Amino acid sequence: MPTSYARFLVADPQTLDRRGSIAWVELKDGLAYELAQPPWLGLRYTDRTFVPTKAKWLAPVSPSKIVCVGRNYRAHALELGNEVPKEPLLFFKPTSALIGPGEAIVLPAASTKVEYEAEIGVVLGKRLRRANPSEAMNGVFGATLVCDVTARDLQKSDGQWARAKGFDTFCPVGPSLVSDLDYSSLSFTLHSNGELRQQGHTQDMVFSIGVLLSYISQAMTLEPGDLVVTGTPAGVGPMAAGDRLRLHQEQIGALELTVVAEN
Ligand code: ZN
Repeated sequence: MPTSYARFLVADPQTLDRRGSIAWVELKDGLAYELAQPPWLGLRYTDRTFVPTKAKWLAPVSPSKIVCVGRNYRAHALELGNEVPKEPLLFFKPTSALIGPGEAIVLPAASTKVEYEAEIGVVLGKRLRRANPSEAMNGVFGATLVCDVTARDLQKSDGQWARAKGFDTFCPVGPSLVSDLDYSSLSFTLHSNGELRQQGHTQDMVFSIGVLLSYISQAMTLEPGDLVVTGTPAGVGPMAAGDRLRLHQEQIGALELTVVAEN
């Protein structure tokens, strides 16, 4: 049965060591039960519970690396004038780009065209090294929502994508991490200022999640907790200061974000 997890900031960061004040929780029956460690390491509970609606939610991930996949939905590849790749196209986002639910995407002064890309993110529960697709699917712990924020102008002019995809705040994730889903059958949406812009379904992927994880693991070991971001469907578009984004997936929930200009 799908189970939902989240990560909370449970105390004032002014007065406590920030690392010491983060709690992983399991969400059940309207309450949050604290875990002694990230859920993919095993479910060990403490004696603390929290009220989720009163908590400051953080990105429900703590990856050693974030591996992303480009052009994994045919209609999106075509909308930007690109071909569908013959093999998965990989890039990284830095962990310093992570932000959580309710936080603001900061538009960098270096770019005049920052765009949203709604995507399903997969979190590993096991180490994968040269896994085949079915072994790779056995290594999946859960799924979450990711906005792969992209400075489209810099992506083109730089050639390499590290800067265009890697600014601080360019990797919003959340709100929850949900295990035991049917990952081949997840539909998700993105609304910008209340208007539906993206509507995706994982069955439309060019390369399935198992194939992607297997492919990545031929090159680099995927560690428990690592985040793999699986590509965006058609409908990507620009954002401006003051915009409100809402990514939604039925079991994962709604990842709501604001957009601000760099001051
Ligand atoms: Zn993307």
